[in-house]
Amino acid sequence: MQAFEPQWPRPKRINFILTNRCNLRCTYCPEGSHPDSYYADLDDTSFEEITKFVRDNGVVEAGLAYYGELTLVRDWWKKARRLLDMGVALTATTNGHLPLSDDEVATFARFKYVEFSIDSHDEETVRKVRKKVSVRTIIHNFHRIRAYCYRNVLTLPDLVWTGVMSHHVVNQLPDFVCFAHSNGVSRLNFNEIVIYEGAVEKRLNVVDLPEAEFREAVASIETALKIAARLGVKLAIGELPRIRARQEGRDIGAPLVVRSTPVAPTLNHTEGDSIPEGYTRDCGAPWNELYLDPKGQVFACCNRGEVMGTARTSAELQSVFGNEKYQALRNGLKTGRDIDPACATCAVRPIVPVQEPQKNRIKSALMTTLGKHPKALTTLAAIRSLVKK
Ligand code: SF4
Ligand code: SF4
Repeated sequence: MQAFEPQWPRPKRINFILTNRCNLRCTYCPEGSHPDSYYADLDDTSFEEITKFVRDNGVVEAGLAYYGELTLVRDWWKKARRLLDMGVALTATTNGHLPLSDDEVATFARFKYVEFSIDSHDEETVRKVRKKVSVRTIIHNFHRIRAYCYRNVLTLPDLVWTGVMSHHVVNQLPDFVCFAHSNGVSRLNFNEIVIYEGAVEKRLNVVDLPEAEFREAVASIETALKIAARLGVKLAIGELPRIRARQEGRDIGAPLVVRSTPVAPTLNHTEGDSIPEGYTRDCGAPWNELYLDPKGQVFACCNRGEVMGTARTSAELQSVFGNEKYQALRNGLKTGRDIDPACATCAVRPIVPVQEPQKNRIKSALMTTLGKHPKALTTLAAIRSLVKK
């Protein structure tokens, strides 16, 4: 079957931030380490151009916060509502530090997905890693959104709690899973500590702990995983493969390599990074979504720091999305040849035979180009069944 790809790919999702500033200084985050010139808020004209791009390209989903704190921006909810009223599904991560106003609660209640960064139920621990934030404020904000949905007969957004797996919180994990469950949370994500130049938490991942502490941490993780399974909580721990590798005596001591991201250069582990011939990464990001910072810099994903172009208008965004850099990135992923160095060493996308991501992209392209027109749905269902075959 001939691969179908539209000449001008249209992203299904746009990720942009209203600000890259944050009101917290978590010990594992580069926020606060940037030069003053880094910080910026999205201006109103740029937001209007983004809404135009969303409308003109049939973008169905927007992520409003891949870095910085959304609720720090005055009247952020008015911009969110503009997009919601256009039928765009919204997602965001918030640190829950500022008490939410009624308007903010009512707006978050209409989101598809809201992730609260929380780390632990223990005030003292949370203040150690996330500084001045209070668990009680986070929980109050969280339950106000839930309560608003119940009061107004709305479907709850997917409300997820997230944390960073540091030595500070690992032994609290069994209790934290129970605390999350008690709050009606069914998904808990723990990311691995990101290491960057000047990081306070450098070399303090669970896998870096001395043997006795490592064993204690692993026992806590095993207990937490069992409790999560019993309570029906999906507990994802990004560091788990490396923790297992250390348990099994595999070498995890390879030197860290510097990698650029849209936010800051980070130091990364590189285990298992080589891509054999005929294989590629299972990644549709350069076809399906883009990342945009408040200065108009476009990135292909949250994991690759090369600026694909600068765009201040809807037309410029469309032009960057179809430029040579993008085409080269897509070709590398599509064919497995001349694959971009960041994709070759990507830690978040699995390695698969070249044909597999191709099938996924064909399905996505069909969904994007046809899925919004009701009359095309019957055709779409027929084509989908063909693609599955
Ligand atoms: S981890 Fe999130 S909440 Fe903490 S400082 Fe960074 S951006 Fe802010
Ligand atoms: S770096 Fe990873 S997530 Fe980004 S485009 Fe490449 S494979 Fe996809």
